[in-house]
Amino acid sequence: MNVLVATSLSQGTRDDDYHWCVEGELVTIQEPCACDSVHPESGCGCSRGFAGLSSQRATTTARIAEIPGFTVGDYVAALASGLSAQGWDPADAEGLARDQLALIAGWPTDAILERSYDRISIRRRPSAPGFDGPGHR
Ligand SMILES: [Zn+2]
Repeated sequence: MNVLVATSLSQGTRDDDYHWCVEGELVTIQEPCACDSVHPESGCGCSRGFAGLSSQRATTTARIAEIPGFTVGDYVAALASGLSAQGWDPADAEGLARDQLALIAGWPTDAILERSYDRISIRRRPSAPGFDGPGHR
């Protein structure tokens, strides 16, 4: 099934891009902190970020990756352990998994996503020119 993973692909497309995650780790979409809610341009940047479940760090670019054999149950378990490692309630994992899978349902594998608060959009489609990342054309 398709899940969201951290990617460095297309980093630099925006001046405020950042990528502190481990390449390919599962990411989740978290509520922005108070600083970004009040000052989106000068806060910490978390309202633009996807949170890495393993590294506890963040990236502004996520890729829709197909992981063969991966199940919804696996995804919930990964989210629950990532959430509890960060001090969040792991009971939220199931709802979060459902929301995030619904979000990417119908979007193409290998599409690269970006975020602005609650709005998640496709930055780059798999068929788009320059899909291999900046500097390849
Ligand atoms: Zn923040």
